[in-house]
Amino acid sequence: MAVQRTLSIIKPDAVAKNVIGDIIRRFEENGLSVIAARMTHLTAEQAGRFYAVHRERPFYRDLCAYMSSGPILALVLEGKNAVALNRQLMGATNPAEAEPGTIRADHADSIEANAVHGSDSEENAATEIAFFFGDLDIHARA
Ligand code: ADP
Ligand code: MG
Repeated sequence: MAVQRTLSIIKPDAVAKNVIGDIIRRFEENGLSVIAARMTHLTAEQAGRFYAVHRERPFYRDLCAYMSSGPILALVLEGKNAVALNRQLMGATNPAEAEPGTIRADHADSIEANAVHGSDSEENAATEIAFFFGDLDIHARA
């Protein structure tokens, strides 16, 4: 499997719980490298643009409020099969359905406040990475 890049976000609930280090440790121990990192605090409008694909969903407004409720840490992860590997380490969207030992099983509070975001395809990863980072912010290691 080829080396890929994916966007991870450590969401406001996980930043507030002070588990940034635990989450990054899981990425590194599973062969992913952090090649860009940025802490930011999105406005609701920016969160809405990031999650525009969900704008028709009933939870969209709440999701934008939650994602702009505190600082987040955006990361670019690089490694073999990075998109699927990150999704596997995250666990299911609903923490009640997440495999034991996944980030969401261990740190998510609810289906909304679920600790992390991860791109769901290489194509979406490229778009999402460009939302937060310019070329000069990204430091390839593979
Ligand atoms: P994932 O983050 O696992 O890719 P989705 O792309 O389906 O999940 O949803 C994006 C985010 O929207 C989720 O991570 C979660 O924060 C929120 N969300 C998804 N489904 C619901 C729901 N039924 N109720 C409230 N929030 C939700
Ligand atoms: Mg998604």
